[in-house]
Amino acid sequence: MTTTAPTANAVTDLRNLVGGEWLAAEAPERIDDLDPATGDVLARVPLSGAADVDAAVRAARAALPAWRATSPLARARAVMRLRDVLLSHQEEIAELVTLDMGKTLADASAEVGRGIESVEAATAMPHLLKGENLEGVARGLDVEMVRQPVGVVAAITPFNFPAMIPLWFLPYAIAAGNTFILKPSEQDPRPSTRIAELIAGIEEIPPGVVNLVHGAHDAVNALLDHPGIDAISFVGSAKTARYVASRAAETGKRVQALGGAKNSMVVMPDADPKLASGGIMGSAFGAAGQRCLAGSVAVLVGDEAEQDRSLQMLVDAARELRVGPGIEPETDVCPLVSVGARERVEAEIEAALAEGAELALDGRREGGAAGAELGPTILDRLGDDSRALREELFGPVLAIKRVPDLAAAIAWSNESRYGNSAILFTESGGAAREFRYSIEAGMIGVNVGVAAPVAWFPFSGWKDSIDGDLHANGHDAVEFYTRKKVVTSRWAGEKG
Ligand code: NAD
Repeated sequence: MTTTAPTANAVTDLRNLVGGEWLAAEAPERIDDLDPATGDVLARVPLSGAADVDAAVRAARAALPAWRATSPLARARAVMRLRDVLLSHQEEIAELVTLDMGKTLADASAEVGRGIESVEAATAMPHLLKGENLEGVARGLDVEMVRQPVGVVAAITPFNFPAMIPLWFLPYAIAAGNTFILKPSEQDPRPSTRIAELIAGIEEIPPGVVNLVHGAHDAVNALLDHPGIDAISFVGSAKTARYVASRAAETGKRVQALGGAKNSMVVMPDADPKLASGGIMGSAFGAAGQRCLAGSVAVLVGDEAEQDRSLQMLVDAARELRVGPGIEPETDVCPLVSVGARERVEAEIEAALAEGAELALDGRREGGAAGAELGPTILDRLGDDSRALREELFGPVLAIKRVPDLAAAIAWSNESRYGNSAILFTESGGAAREFRYSIEAGMIGVNVGVAAPVAWFPFSGWKDSIDGDLHANGHDAVEFYTRKKVVTSRWAGEKG
């Protein structure tokens, strides 16, 4: 047992944060956290098991009564301290994101900035927690609704936003009076480890209010099965989201499970070329296509000549993008998170070509520094049921779908089992309104390539992009992290 925080820079065995102590996981297995750009080992990640999770749950449960009894104002002030500490360490955390996950420094800094916005939104919790009341529902009878914390809550998060996504949940959960356990992605856990270190140094957030457990499947299963956990927030692939949601439901836990995506970007013939090509490049190829909001299908509207013109615009713009390590400022397209991820995406490209797709742009390379690089790739003339058009490849691959008009674009997009995001490029207000009304997705962009989360609004998709009802952030976070209690009272001698 030690109270010394692990250093984030040396190759070290990461530890779990349990009740304010940095504990080595009891489970013996470790995996390497690799820099995708160089292949260097950055840390060893313990694959915690049931005993490690149990220790964190006990610590969170022990901290719950006092934290729940702390006034909403004091909890909000604690979250304000977290905001200040994160802001003063934004670039340091961003660098850890780049080293662990691979994305460019500018992208990583923006990610941390968005996480801080969620922290800022959660500082409004005293206002957001206020209940409702109705005087005199019957003679002498008043009714009020109060919100109380759910209890001990856990978040299980993916690799692609290792700083921002934990912060979609942590600040709201603790500001609402819950205690919290984070299980970050085992592929890039150092940014959240650093955030936990910073939290451990904030006096206003007592030990046990925020806990961190490293690991993979065993840790997730232990969280899902533990009777001491009351709610689970999950973000990851659709398959894991469905699994987590059903297992959490079986064990009687509240759950929100945000899953994968296949996002259409519809390009009308009247689209502004600069907005469209800039927006689509950032969306399809930014973070090497490893965003849940990545536009991975360009739906080109018009006659054959108009479609060809739009395609040429995209190919020309994609050729200009520079592939390289995220740490280099001139890089546009970073490496994938691992060599294995690059190999998986290349196999998807091969499969599409074997089915008869045409390569409008081939980004396959002779390996990068560590072999995780893949350049922007554009696939045209795909079969309608091809995986490249219908499933999430999670790499820098843009699939082309050609349609005659907006109605066909909307109908085709709505056939997707996913509904995370959809984007329209047009100069027509009427087309934008029709799109907004009819498209089946949670996050819509008009002339914006990535309809990114804004902390004061709920964030999520529809259909297979979520299991559960409540989205992340905004009022949905307050709904998720509180239970409503309705109190009916009568007092002798009351008027009314
Ligand atoms: P993933 O599903 O592989 O992993 C997510 C988390 O679940 C990790 O913490 C991992 O340890 C755990 N996990 C994975 N498989 C598991 C299993 N079989 N049993 C128990 N736990 C398991 O996802 P990922 O590859 O880390 O992240 C990329 C995916 O996340 C993409 O599909 C992307 O679209 C999605 N995503 C969605 C959103 C959203 O808001 N909808 C946001 C970001 C990422």
